[in-house]
Order: sequence, then C-alpha cells, then structure tokens
Amino acid sequence: MSRFAHSHRRRPTGTQTRHALSSFALVFLTVLAIICLCPVTVQAQEVDSRSEYGTVIGIDLGTTYSCVGVNKGGRVEIIANDQGHRITPSWVSFTENERLVGDSAKSALHSNPTNTIFDVKRMIGRKMDDPSMKQNIKHWPFKVYEKHGKPAITVHHQGVERDFSPEEISAMVLVKMKETAEAYLGEKVTHAVITVPAHFNDAQRTSTKDAGTIAGLNVLRVLNEPTAAALAYGLNKNGPESKILVYDLGGGTFDVSLLSIEDGVFEVLATAGDTHLGGEDFDNRVMDYFTKVYKKKTGTDVTNNARAIGKLKREVEKAKRALSNQQSTRIEIESFENGNDFSETLTRAKFEELNMDLFRKTMNPVQQVLKDANVRKEEVNEIVLVGGSTRIPKVQALLTEYFGKELSKGINPDEAVAHGAAVQAGILSGEESGGLIIDVVPLTLGIETTGGVFAKVIPRGTPIPTKKTQTFSTAADNQQTVLIQVFEGERSLTKDNNHLGTFELSGIPSASRGIPQIDVTFEVDANGILIVGAADKGSGNVKSITIANEGGGRLTQEQIDAMIAESEAFAVQDEMQRKRIDTLNSLSTLVYGTRTELSHDQGGPANKIKEIDKAALSTLLSESVQWIEEEGPSASLEILEEKLGDVLNAVQTLYRSNAEDDSTYEWDRTEL
Ligand code: AMP
Repeated sequence: MSRFAHSHRRRPTGTQTRHALSSFALVFLTVLAIICLCPVTVQAQEVDSRSEYGTVIGIDLGTTYSCVGVNKGGRVEIIANDQGHRITPSWVSFTENERLVGDSAKSALHSNPTNTIFDVKRMIGRKMDDPSMKQNIKHWPFKVYEKHGKPAITVHHQGVERDFSPEEISAMVLVKMKETAEAYLGEKVTHAVITVPAHFNDAQRTSTKDAGTIAGLNVLRVLNEPTAAALAYGLNKNGPESKILVYDLGGGTFDVSLLSIEDGVFEVLATAGDTHLGGEDFDNRVMDYFTKVYKKKTGTDVTNNARAIGKLKREVEKAKRALSNQQSTRIEIESFENGNDFSETLTRAKFEELNMDLFRKTMNPVQQVLKDANVRKEEVNEIVLVGGSTRIPKVQALLTEYFGKELSKGINPDEAVAHGAAVQAGILSGEESGGLIIDVVPLTLGIETTGGVFAKVIPRGTPIPTKKTQTFSTAADNQQTVLIQVFEGERSLTKDNNHLGTFELSGIPSASRGIPQIDVTFEVDANGILIVGAADKGSGNVKSITIANEGGGRLTQEQIDAMIAESEAFAVQDEMQRKRIDTLNSLSTLVYGTRTELSHDQGGPANKIKEIDKAALSTLLSESVQWIEEEGPSASLEILEEKLGDVLNAVQTLYRSNAEDDSTYEWDRTEL
C-alpha cells in the first residue's frame, strides 16, 4: 500500500496555489474564527445539561492509592471509604469466593500474591511491546500475558482462570470510589472527572476513560493531575500569567510539571520525572540497612525470609512517616524471625543519610522542566506539593532552598489531586462558578508521509479542544487508497514516535500522483482524546476514526460493552456474596448468642426451659457450631438461608414450648 505525500510537494505550480490561497483567504479566516469560538459553545452545552449530571465526583485514580472528592456548596469534601480511610489502595484481589477491592485487597497480598493485582496504571493504554511493560512485568507477582498486542492479567477466581484487561481492573477500583461517594452522598453517582498524569498519551487517556465507562461512570473530563493540584490551591483565578511548578512524589512514581495559567487557561509547559522513584524506594533503603545491621548482630540473613521481610517493610514505612514529624523513632517487631525480636532506633538524620542521593536526584527533573520550557527558577510563582512523600522534611528543604521561597502545602498532599478534580467536577455540575479549564496537547500529533517522515498536524502545547486540517496528496500515479498512520511525538521520523492507529481512505479517482487533495483533520476534545478524519475532495469520500483499533492500546466499543456487562455481572455476584456473608453472620449470632445465654443467663428465656429441652437445645447448638465452622464458609446463600430458618425455628419451638407467655419469646429474623 502506498503511503501519503505531503501535498505541498505536489502542488501544480506555486503561482496557481498563491492565487487559490488569496481567493480562499477570507473564507478560511471565517472558518478559523468559527473554530476558535468552539470552546464557548462547549461551555454553554455543559451548563445546559448540568441538571442531568447529579453530583459529579472527582477521582484521583493513582498508581498506588486512589482518592475521591465532591464539591458541595462550594466546599470540597474528600470522602473516607468504608474503613474510614481517605485514600484507598488501587488494588484488587481475587480469592476463591470473592473479589476484594481497596484496603482488604492490599492486605491479601501475602496470602494470595498471584491473584492480587496492583500497579495497573503502569499498564493502562500500553501495548505489550512497550519497553516499560517488560521491565515492570519482572517485578509483578501476578501473571500478565499478551492478548491482541495488549496486556491481559490472568487470575484464578472461583475455580477458573480468568483474564482481565487493565481497563477492567481500573474499573473495579473506580466502582469502589463511586460506591464510597454514593455511601456518603446517599444518592447514585453517574458522572465523574478522572485525573491522569500530564505525560499520559492519547491511548492512556482513552483507556482511563473506558475504565470509567466500564465502571458505569460518564467521564465528563479527563483532567491532568498537575492542573488538578493547581486548581485545589485556587490558582485558576483570572489574572496575569503565573507559573506553577507541581512536584508530585508518591509511593512509586515521581512527576514534575511546569504549568502556566493565564486568565483561567492552563498550559502544561513541560513535564519530566521518574516512573520508578518514590516512597517505596526510601523504604527499601531503610530495609537494606536494617537487614545488614541484623545480620551483623545475629549472623542471620533474613533477606529470603518473606515473612520477616513483610513485617519489617510495614514497620519501616510507619517509622518513615513518624520521622516526618519527629527526630527519632523505634522499630519494634516481636518474633521477627525464629522467635527472636527486632528492636532498633532510626533517627531522621540516618534516614536522610540513607536516601540523600535519591532526594537530590529529584531535583534533576525540576531543573529539566525549567530548561525545556525556557523558564528561570525566579519566574516560578508557586511550588505545589503533591504525593505523600512530599511530607518528608528534607524533600521540602531541598525545594525551598532551590527556589528560595515558601511551598504551597496547605492541602493534604495525597488529596490535592482529588481535591482539584472535585473543584472541576463542581464547575461542571454547576456547584461552583468558574470557567472552562483548558489543558494542552502534551505531544505533537501528525501522520506518516513518504519516506517515514512525520508530518505534524497539531503541535504540542496547543490548547484543547482543538481542530486542525492539513491537505495531503497521493505518492503514486493512480493510487486509489491511502493509508493514514497516526503518530504522536517530537521526532522527525515516525519510527521514533509513538504509533496511535491506522486507517484507510479508498475510492480515490485515478489521477497522477500529487493531484488528489485529501484533507486530514485532527480533532482533540476537551479530554485530550483524538479523532482523525480524512476527506478526498475529488470523490467526496470521507473516513474518520477515534483511534480505537488493532495494535493501538485502546479498546473497541464491543470490548467496552462486553466489559460493562461483565462488570454488572460482578456487581450481582458481589451483592450475592454480601448477602451470603450477612446470612452466615446472622446464623453465627443466633447460635453463639443462644449458647452464651444458655450457659450464663440466669433470668432469660434459656434459663427457664426444662432440663430435657436444655439438652436438646445444647445438642442443636453444638451441631450448628460444627456446621458453621465446617460448611458455613463455602455454603451457598440458599443453603445458608435454609439453615438459618431451620435453626431459628428449632430454637423458637423449644422456647415456645417452655414459655408461660408465648409472646415473650417471639423472635424476629430482623433482630439478628
Ligand atoms: P501517594 O501515592 O501520593 O499516596 O504517596 C504514598 C507514599 O507517601 C507512600 O510511600 C507513603 O509511605 C508516603 N508517605 C505518606 N505519608 C508520609 C509521611 N508522613 N512521611 C513520609 N512519607 C509519607
């Protein structure tokens, strides 16, 4: 199949083109003016449909933790989950009987490592041949394999092997966040704003949006994380240009972004970072230190003792957090290994010494973004801290020293992104007044032309939404089909850039090469999602795609629909599981409660029944205890309900037959 040629190489003559250009100039300018007005139209539509949205939630879908917030009456609330935690691990664990999400999933890592999934944000929207995938897979205890060029995660669940896409696992985390918000609000939630790193490419953004769709959420906006953090600090107010450096040091990733804000319009000027640097690296340094100390003192090497290492990891992380507020802390672990205890002191000074090179290393991306954007450090107006690890005093000190000014740290750093997402959600749902938040295209978008040359259509840094058209032509005589290959990146040859998708435009009437005029239009919506269209002026043939097919990191609509159906099936299963556990709990309460009453209660109903009936009751209870322990955990809801009914009946009958006044002993299932 022939490639495309950039049309300027095929113009019949320079003079003809100039004439054509001048006669079209006025029309073109009018069209351009209409395009430029697009954002205003978008905003009007958003305002009109606000009432249908209900409360829009803001979700920070993080690599290690996620966080959800809402804007109520102009105030942002970060919502605690069912465990009372304001951040929820982005973890999903599949046990034999149930699916756990969040805190309980993270706790299952040691007991069920191969079926406990985390880090999906490192996979979402990536292809399997992405170099970072190969690196990451080595460190994951769960199985990831290639399915149609994309990663698929295999788990053992309910007796069978099942595959999940990263979008589906992320959707499970999003459902948890949605339910957390619903429990707080007391109403169903259908619309959300979800954040992504500023460096996320098109496929990663689309996949994140797809995850939202699978979770039953209409994703109104995919917002850049640093933009959200700046919003949390109210830095979007209209006014002269201001430059903001967002320093985001989390558990496993480090991102630095330089933003410019002018009259409420955000532009990401540059991003840099390290995809594998964060709190866990600091913990690992301390772990290495203590395992060496322990070996020196006792002669025992615990590095291969998974249990001991697990215990040490938990305690080291706690100690690290404590050292952000105090100068020294003790780590005490009872029966650390082979019955021996572990007891050591860790000072802040030692912690800093162990990690100083890593802390200093974080300043390189800071300098890099300033260099890339050609901004002097004195020009930076605000430094915003994001991510739990920015609580470390030394990290803050290095930044203060470098910029010579105070840092913005009033908002909890691990909640700042969700906070900003909630602000944006509030704007979209009409809770909060404010303008449209505008981001920019993070990487240049274009197509491949003859010789593998990258023809840029939308330059990086262009504010979104945006739409641009360029005219191309055929590269061979009588070429009837052109292959449109879409790329993103900054290199001049497409082989060095990131391939996003391919489509064909056929039915081009026979003509010499360079004569057909094919308009290629790139449109990036407010979420940063790309639609590419091609139209042959001669034949009027039109073809357009949202980069959604083979090889790309994205899902097809059919795949999304299938996943939504599966997610709904999971919701039914989860509900069934919840009822099963509730019924087992009711049965246990009845049996153990009656047993306690029978042995202790002096004045209650159990005490009043005849000795012979007491013996029968005691036998019934012992049998029931045995049944609960042996059969209960695996019994179906139906069997459990039947058992509960039987035991309840038997107990009531015994009580009733001994009662002077029947009504005293009426038990109701709802009391259980
Ligand atoms: P994030 O992914 O942004 O929630 O960041 C989580 C990381 O922040 C983990 O590695 C935590 O150990 C770390 N972290 C949380 N609180 C503190 C603290 N007070 N001091 C130092 N590190 C912390």
